[in-house]
Amino acid sequence: MSITRLADLSDAVACPLVVLKVGSALLVGKDGTPRREWLASLAADIAAVRARGQRVIVVSSGAIALGAARLDIGKGGRGNLADAQAAAAVGQIALAGLWANALQVEGLEAAQLLVTLDDLEERRRYLNAAATFGRLLAAGAVPVVNENDSVATEEIRFGDNDRLAARVAQAADANAVILLSDVDGLLDRDPADPKARLVPIINEIGPELRSAAANTSNSEVGTGGMVSKLEAADIAQRAGIALAIVNGEHQAPVSRAISNDTGSLFLPLRNEDAKRSWLGGRLQLSGTLTVDEGCVVALRDGASLLATGIIEAEGTFQRGDVVAVRDGLGQIAKGLVEYSSEECEQIMGRKTSEQSKLLGYVPRSAVIHRDHLVLL
Ligand code: GLU
Repeated sequence: MSITRLADLSDAVACPLVVLKVGSALLVGKDGTPRREWLASLAADIAAVRARGQRVIVVSSGAIALGAARLDIGKGGRGNLADAQAAAAVGQIALAGLWANALQVEGLEAAQLLVTLDDLEERRRYLNAAATFGRLLAAGAVPVVNENDSVATEEIRFGDNDRLAARVAQAADANAVILLSDVDGLLDRDPADPKARLVPIINEIGPELRSAAANTSNSEVGTGGMVSKLEAADIAQRAGIALAIVNGEHQAPVSRAISNDTGSLFLPLRNEDAKRSWLGGRLQLSGTLTVDEGCVVALRDGASLLATGIIEAEGTFQRGDVVAVRDGLGQIAKGLVEYSSEECEQIMGRKTSEQSKLLGYVPRSAVIHRDHLVLL
């Protein structure tokens, strides 16, 4: 079942994992104080999503805005990079506390993750982030993610959390991203034009929509704006993930947008194609793992590739490289490998219980996780 309309975002089968992005302008008032009542209503929304059997990751801005007010730094902390980084260092503690308290009221445990661009784009670190999200979600926590603003330099910053949300969704293998905005969604032309209409469903982002987005102004507190939302939509669609822009200004904004069916929904490209192009398009194959028949059957059933099924490992590769998987007849799959070629040789054919001793550390859950595997 795939996502074709906003209502599907509340369906646990079509959308088991959703990333919810909350901007600074919604969370922090113009005076730099948190909007607690609104946050409480959003936490209740998140609890409702969880009660339906869906999992949630929050991507929250607000550190710079909160910290700037506390340190009395001008321009909302965005005058220069050093201001932003100092403000974020103070504000992030406050932000984490706000989320932990708001979610606790709903009986939910918040988990903080601060990431940089490299953590989600460099393949080895990407695997680490993916595994952490998986484990936290399995344990029932609600990950609350922000950029690690205080250490990132200008060149390696996401800068806006819209694109960060799309990358987080990709790493966590989410089905949808919801961007809470200060407008109802994407308009088909300059918002100043009275003929401007909300675009409810977007298959592909064409030049008209890009130019309409370029005319939309930014809110004063955050960075985002419509251009970065379109960039985020682009990343999501290509990764096979749906992305919705909805108005976050009301109380309980998620349930409201879904029940009113108001917002803009960017539809995912077909998941398999998207994953395949992500794995295949820009990455060279660095080696080959030959697997036995039982393993082929398990992979076709949707399992991860385990060391027990590997007969041979060829080539020199590192954790995070893309390798081919083959049986006696030819290539059947490719994926991001969790171990180096040397380690694969050590543990192939061995049960998990034997692997710790051979590796010298606790083994990972698979050699290639099913989320990072594409069958051909
Ligand atoms: N990460 C920044 C913060 O927490 C904000 C980035 C954005 O505005 O999207 O303040």
